[in-house]
Amino acid sequence: MALQIKIIPVTSFLQNAALLWDDESNEAVLTDTGGEAKLLLAEVDRLQLNLKAIWLTHGHLDHISGVNDLIKLNDVPVLGPQRHDEYWIAALPEVTANYGFPISQSFKPTRWLEEGDELNVGQYTFQVLHIPGHTPGHVVFYNQENKLLIAGDVLFRETVGRTDLPGGNHADLIHNIRSKLLTLPDDTRVLPGHGAMTTIGHEKKYNAFLND
Ligand SMILES: [Zn+2]
Repeated sequence: MALQIKIIPVTSFLQNAALLWDDESNEAVLTDTGGEAKLLLAEVDRLQLNLKAIWLTHGHLDHISGVNDLIKLNDVPVLGPQRHDEYWIAALPEVTANYGFPISQSFKPTRWLEEGDELNVGQYTFQVLHIPGHTPGHVVFYNQENKLLIAGDVLFRETVGRTDLPGGNHADLIHNIRSKLLTLPDDTRVLPGHGAMTTIGHEKKYNAFLND
């Protein structure tokens, strides 16, 4: 028995939505359902999982624009991000139109998340860490037992999230990565919102943004 993860890139931005499940109870969650709700739910069905919730790291369109479609088809609670990203979610119809995405209506998360909250999928617990900088309400999800971090757009392989969009703050981002993520074990696997997985140890050594 184990915590399982399947990465499913969605939208033209190839955002790494993740399906996480406990293979003993078959309880599952989806993270960052940025689009392609039918594709994501087909995977849930194929694996015969019981979807329990959607977890959101932040309010950017490629991470949340599939939420409405998904909950229409399978009504589960939407957890996160932290409430300071409310302005991004409110702007979703406009932002999806501007980027040429299928237009998505805004929504209200079932619950905003805060630093220190704990979320469960089956027997596995993820801690919520608040990492403002890419957006002010960005959270990440950390499972200590499996040394797995769902990092959204905070930390990527050898780079960090952009901070030039409204509400971004580069100094905050670097400070929070250093104090809350680089302190995790070196062999922690990091799933970024885009691109390949990495580890905390690799980023400590090779990430130029964190080593100046
Ligand atoms: Zn983003």
